[in-house]
Amino acid sequence: MDELDSLNVRYIKGVGEARAKSFEKLGVRTLRDLVSYFPRTYEDRTVFKDIGSLIVGENACVCAVVATQPRLSHIRKGMDLLKFKAVDGADSLDVTFFNQPYKRDSIHIGETYVFYGRVGGRIGRPEMVNPVMEREQDSGRTTGRIMPIYRLTSGLTQNFVAKAVRSGLDACREQYPDILPARVREESNLCSAGFAYENVHFPKDTGSLEIARRRLVFEELFALSAAMRLMRGRRMEQSGIMLPECDMGPFFRSLPFELTGAQRRAVDEAVSDMTKGERPMSRLLQGDVGSGKTVVAAACCYAAWRAGRQSAFMAPTEILADQHLRSLTSMLGALGMNVDILKGSMTAKQKREARARLSSGETDLVIGTHALISEDVEFSDLALVITDEQHRFGVDQRSELTKKGDRPHVLVMSATPIPRTLALIIYGDLDVSIIDELPPGRQKVDTFAVGEDMRERINNFIRKLVAEGRQVYIVCPMVGEADTEQAPDAPENLKAAEEYAKKLRDEVFPDLRVAIIHGKMKPLAKDETMKAFAAGESDILVATTVIEVGVDVPNAALMVVENADRFGLSQLHQLRGRVGRGKHKSYCVLFEGSGGDTAKERLKVMCETNDGFKIAEEDLRLRGPGDFFGSRQHGLPEMHIADIAGDMDVLKQAQEAAKRVLEEDPELTDPENSKLSQHVERMFSGLASRLN
Ligand code: ADP
Ligand code: MG
Repeated sequence: MDELDSLNVRYIKGVGEARAKSFEKLGVRTLRDLVSYFPRTYEDRTVFKDIGSLIVGENACVCAVVATQPRLSHIRKGMDLLKFKAVDGADSLDVTFFNQPYKRDSIHIGETYVFYGRVGGRIGRPEMVNPVMEREQDSGRTTGRIMPIYRLTSGLTQNFVAKAVRSGLDACREQYPDILPARVREESNLCSAGFAYENVHFPKDTGSLEIARRRLVFEELFALSAAMRLMRGRRMEQSGIMLPECDMGPFFRSLPFELTGAQRRAVDEAVSDMTKGERPMSRLLQGDVGSGKTVVAAACCYAAWRAGRQSAFMAPTEILADQHLRSLTSMLGALGMNVDILKGSMTAKQKREARARLSSGETDLVIGTHALISEDVEFSDLALVITDEQHRFGVDQRSELTKKGDRPHVLVMSATPIPRTLALIIYGDLDVSIIDELPPGRQKVDTFAVGEDMRERINNFIRKLVAEGRQVYIVCPMVGEADTEQAPDAPENLKAAEEYAKKLRDEVFPDLRVAIIHGKMKPLAKDETMKAFAAGESDILVATTVIEVGVDVPNAALMVVENADRFGLSQLHQLRGRVGRGKHKSYCVLFEGSGGDTAKERLKVMCETNDGFKIAEEDLRLRGPGDFFGSRQHGLPEMHIADIAGDMDVLKQAQEAAKRVLEEDPELTDPENSKLSQHVERMFSGLASRLN
């Protein structure tokens, strides 16, 4: 291990114990972490202006002479003001410092200083409050240059982080982090590591910053692509236990519908992975909401069962697990399979019994939530692991389940349509089946974005649909994280949803049957509410986003979303996907809420298209990848510098380069690739779980 990884930031000049703790909160522990702690943004302090041409509201540098003796005044307890005037030629600038009385002694009348700050005051009387200030001969340190701006945490200031990074860079002058094979660097016209690290933190000018950034973005994406390729390569070598081929006829004939062409293809691909392949299946099944992924999963379970083996099917919420239990029992139970459920809300006794049925082999297919991963769950002969709505799980959770069997086949399903380029890196190690066709008879869900003035008309519309025998969802806003069982509704939202439901029931629709469901309800109550709604025993279901994924009630024909501006597009698409799942003409009404123009623009996208891919791309464009995926929804390591959406060109080049390197040196044993190899192994400690 070299110094980059062995030297703790605590020992960097000027850091020390306490600050090291603060750095730790930012994920910075080693010298490598420190110099790879890239600025969040930059402030261009290179533009100097005359005082006379300052514009109120802009940030600018001026070079001016202090013209009056700085005056200190106490305006009230604990509040000091230091004021003076600075002039250049004919114009003057009022400068004020709050609570920095000690500055008085270092500011000398008649001397020239550079000031950088936001211009306040009014036309003809500009001022700066708490500007950055340094003597003219010192300019170039914190003024007159492009300054890095870092993400901070308590205990750290911009100045301090910048200084620490400076010392860090000095400490690795002999050996900057550098994983690019020399040849790749040359072929791709990238600058040296030293230039890159120096200029990404302390850019000489904007051109140098661009050059530096390009190299570092390339390096990051190159490493990621190489890691994915290597992993995929290793998976290809892994042998698995193949299932004997079986006749799928009985399964197909038992279904109440014909599979679509796309579903058939997906079943063929998955089943032949399990029966004819040379390694365990590792497949992503991607299909827009309502495309019918569950039945493909059922087909795989059937094939495993015919081979006398067990399957596990993991869903992100209990609501979804319950629903899958109902639908899979009706599909597979009739053919003789024992379908069981295991979820957190069951009593200890129920769980114990379910576990016993699993370990004895009595259960053929178990459906469950993450409770399936719990330590004391054992299978007698697990051959297939399915995760539904994969984006709701971390990669680690998926792999925990696969450890319960001997290299079981793995199918992950997701409706989150990921733009193709992203899919390549996120799921680069998986084979992909895409269901790009909806079951027949589905009609476009007509979508309207409306304001409060439409409330009355929408209420009448709800009545009309209910009178026709249809059902309606009304979704209330949720701030913050989506609510799975792990992150239930925040209390304030809960209150909003509950109060709103009451109002709807008692005042707006006293004549209709209004039910409510939210994340904080007891699982049993949730299940009963869902079951009753599915059975047509309520007309309106007021819900938080607990119903966002997977819920399938074909008779529901209208989705109303309150304060739709608070939801992401992909989330709205998921919500809309709860209707239009049967033969009935369906609608989605989005109340605009108080969102601004971008919010309106986003909702317009929803009205214009039903295509999940288009919506995802638009979402990505409008929100950027961080928000698009939410905190930990993709299992990718955190990007330090690359902005996957914005750096698409570099991504392509980096992928090409990684491909060439790994084609020539599949295991990265060539000394030229040793740094890369070490780096990839480091990444694997986070990603390796995918390999199982
Ligand atoms: P998703 O892909 O969103 O998980 P589901 O598997 O829940 O979709 O299927 C949505 C609905 O479509 C279900 O009610 C299911 O029974 C129905 N369905 C699935 N495939 C077909 C098909 N080929 N023909 C008709 N209905 C289908
Ligand atoms: Mg589903």
